[in-house]
Order: sequence, then C-alpha cells, then structure tokens
Amino acid sequence: MPFCPKCGKEVSPEASYCASCGASLRVEKVRYDGLYVSGPQDVIPSDYGSCYHYLRFYEDGTVLAASVVLTEGPNQVIRWFDKSNPNISKGQYSIQGNTIRFSTTSPQGDVVDYAGQIINDRLKLHWRSRIIRRGFDSRGFEDYTFVKVS
Ligand SMILES: [Zn+2]
Repeated sequence: MPFCPKCGKEVSPEASYCASCGASLRVEKVRYDGLYVSGPQDVIPSDYGSCYHYLRFYEDGTVLAASVVLTEGPNQVIRWFDKSNPNISKGQYSIQGNTIRFSTTSPQGDVVDYAGQIINDRLKLHWRSRIIRRGFDSRGFEDYTFVKVS
C-alpha cells in the first residue's frame, strides 16, 4: 500500500486525495520540452542589470541551472543547456507527490539546495545557497514558469 507523502498515513492505490489530511496524491511531473524561467531578478552589483534564472530537466533525473544576465530569450538560452556544457550548474532532482527537491553544483563548486511545489506548469521553489557571499542573499524564493522551446 502507498503512503501519503504529506502525513505518512496509508492510502489506497486508487485514491487521488489522502483521506486523513486531504493532500493531493497525484504524482506531478516536470516537463522536458523547454525551460523553466524565473525573473527578471535584480543582480548585485547592479551594473549587471537584471537576470533570469533558468532550469532544464531531463528524464534521467538530471537538472541544469543557469542565471542569464543577457536579454536573450529561451530560444537562444536553451542552446547552452547541454549536459556536456562545463559552465552550467548540474544536479539530480526527485519528485514525491507534487514536491520537488534538488541540489545544483556550479562549475566553481557552489551548491544550492532547492525544494518546492510543482503546480501545473509552474515551480514554486525555495532555495538556499551553501556559500554566502557579500552582497548576495543566501536564500530566497522563486516562481518559475515553463516555456516550451521547439
Ligand atoms: Zn495525508
């Protein structure tokens, strides 16, 4: 028998809601046919202007993350989202119910932990950097929207 990811009580395999706590038992998925984008975010130092945060997910459990300070759109940005790109942050994601978790490691070795909810084509993610740099927040919240890229 499966268990509710929220309260841990046993639930029937056919149930779409937990009878104990009401949590949705539908298993959410991320999409692989484009990018999730959040932004623009203000960057410190401010001479860099604003940047967009992008995430790309793969069926094998890989997630790639990059912050893009340019005005290029998803159709240009997706070219850099390649697992063999040495300049991109990488990690492995896991999904339980509608909760997604992953940690990405940048080429410089900086680790950022993400956790949040999948709501249709959006990701509401809290993140926490394990390295604190002056002028940068070490944690935050981002709302990602899926953009299909052909
Ligand atoms: Zn429950």
